[in-house]
Amino acid sequence: MAFFQDPPRLGNTYESDALLREHLARTFPGNDLAGIEPELSHLGALAGGPLHEQQLAERDLEPTLVQWDAWGRRVDRIRLTPLWREAATLAARHGLVATAYERRHGPRSRTHQLALAYVLDPSTDVYSCPLAMTDGAVRTLLDGGDPVLVERAVPRLTSRDPARAWTSGQWMTERIGGSDVSATETVARRDAAGTWRLFGTKWFSSAASAEMALALARPEGNPAGSRGLALFYVETRLADGTPNGILVNRLKDKLGTRKLPTAELTLDGAAAAPVAGLTDGVRNIAPMLEVTRTWNAIAATAGMHRALSLARDYARRRVAFGTPIAARPLHAELLAGLEAEREGAFLLAFRAAALLGRAETGDATAMERALLRAVTPLAKLTTGRQAVQIASEAIECFGGAGYVEDTGLPRLLRDAQVLPIWEGTTNVLALDLLRALAMEGAAEALAAELMRLASEARDPALRPPVETALAGAERARAFLGEADGAVREAGARGVALTLGRALEVLLLASHAQWCLDQGRGRRALAAARRLARNGVDLVSPPSVEDAELLAR
Ligand SMILES: Cc1cc2nc3c(=O)[nH]c(=O)nc-3n(C[C@H](O)[C@H](O)[C@H](O)COP(=O)(O)OP(=O)(O)OC[C@H]3O[C@@H](n4cnc5c(N)ncnc54)[C@H](O)[C@@H]3O)c2cc1C
Repeated sequence: MAFFQDPPRLGNTYESDALLREHLARTFPGNDLAGIEPELSHLGALAGGPLHEQQLAERDLEPTLVQWDAWGRRVDRIRLTPLWREAATLAARHGLVATAYERRHGPRSRTHQLALAYVLDPSTDVYSCPLAMTDGAVRTLLDGGDPVLVERAVPRLTSRDPARAWTSGQWMTERIGGSDVSATETVARRDAAGTWRLFGTKWFSSAASAEMALALARPEGNPAGSRGLALFYVETRLADGTPNGILVNRLKDKLGTRKLPTAELTLDGAAAAPVAGLTDGVRNIAPMLEVTRTWNAIAATAGMHRALSLARDYARRRVAFGTPIAARPLHAELLAGLEAEREGAFLLAFRAAALLGRAETGDATAMERALLRAVTPLAKLTTGRQAVQIASEAIECFGGAGYVEDTGLPRLLRDAQVLPIWEGTTNVLALDLLRALAMEGAAEALAAELMRLASEARDPALRPPVETALAGAERARAFLGEADGAVREAGARGVALTLGRALEVLLLASHAQWCLDQGRGRRALAAARRLARNGVDLVSPPSVEDAELLAR
């Protein structure tokens, strides 16, 4: 008799996600929850069933670039995978961008929208990337306030009709820099008819199949540096369908996100329109980054949940040394530690979403707006790092099977690795956090948030995690109070990760108290305690010895 291992299975990924359901029950009172749950459950059934099967079946398919038509004309069309085409239809029909702007639930619409995205994302091969940029483009165009651009693009970017819906790219990174775009080489020049035209190279242009993009370029004659850059609106095709002065040189051959076409582009006179004046492009694209970084955190926590759902199911099916590995104390201990990480990450990502929603509808207090400025980089950088760590551990939970491509599991790790890189690396966001904390009211707002959450966690069993989190936050505060110059900069990453983890523990502790009060059990309490035991304090004042490590 030959043995064949049962593969891991998912089931309805909404129904089985206790934390998501608790969080939504906390956020949406009574009938509002009943109004949104059927759609989430429908998407959970799709994500855990047919879409996941399609994802596995299409494992070998990748987008392709068709540069020429049969008669030698340059066309630069990108052929997408079938799952991506399906994801585009689902995203439009279920309003994955529109929900945030229709605002049926006022300031809670962001939570609603990103819950839909969270459920669908792990089964749609990183289609969240174009959705995030599309969402960011809507916000940026609305904030920019140009009525012509708003009227032309926003109804399409937020359309629920798949035939009408557009997506947007975001063209910032060039060969000279992605973290530091101040030396951007793309220039904008007016032609004889007064139309702005862009000339340059964009080095990482994801979702290159999008109908439009927001691009940084320097209007000719503007000063060097980031203030001299302007933000431009570009449609990728002309009315007759031919490229708008844009050549797709090649698609990147990437470690992961392989279904996502990321292109190197030459802009050769692409017609464009300024979004908000002819300077301050980096400042004007900030709303885009606020939105995409929030999506990044949501995608990170969704990916962690997918990896752990599969690992937990597998642990019940896989037998070693006479029992399912789920029953081996050491394996169970490992899984519990990982689950605590994902629960903290989830609550941090959705806290960023909730604050964003309140800021967008004008419901946020000044304190909440200052808090949002700190929580967005914190959520992005903390969850991005956790996503890689959890994906790596989850792969190991499958033993050799985790390393074999046709199980579909290695993709989890490859796709996670992008999360700490794009939309700002961990270092870049740690420095952004320090800038945020130096702004008026932000450090106070973060401290008040930590204290508020701590005070909500009344159960004595929550004292240890609360104290661990507050002690970590205090170490971070003390470091920032004492260190300056290069020492402060070198310690930024440890400070940021400590504050991120402290916030996660306290969000979990507050959530655990709510679960206890509602008679919803002690899972969240165990998660808060475990996350704190995994460690919070990563503040590590740099030492002069560190330089010796790098000396040759
Ligand atoms: C799959 C993928 C898709 C992408 N899609 C897009 C897209 O659609 N549009 C777009 O505009 N960009 C896109 N990017 C680019 C991405 O945003 C950049 O790669 C990223 O911002 C980093 O920029 P860089 O590659 O130039 O790295 P660099 O800026 O050269 O960074 C190299 C290293 O230096 C560190 N570093 C940089 N500055 C500092 C500092 N001051 N202090 C300490 N450390 C520092 C960084 O943390 C990093 O580890 C994509 C990237 C990937 C991988």
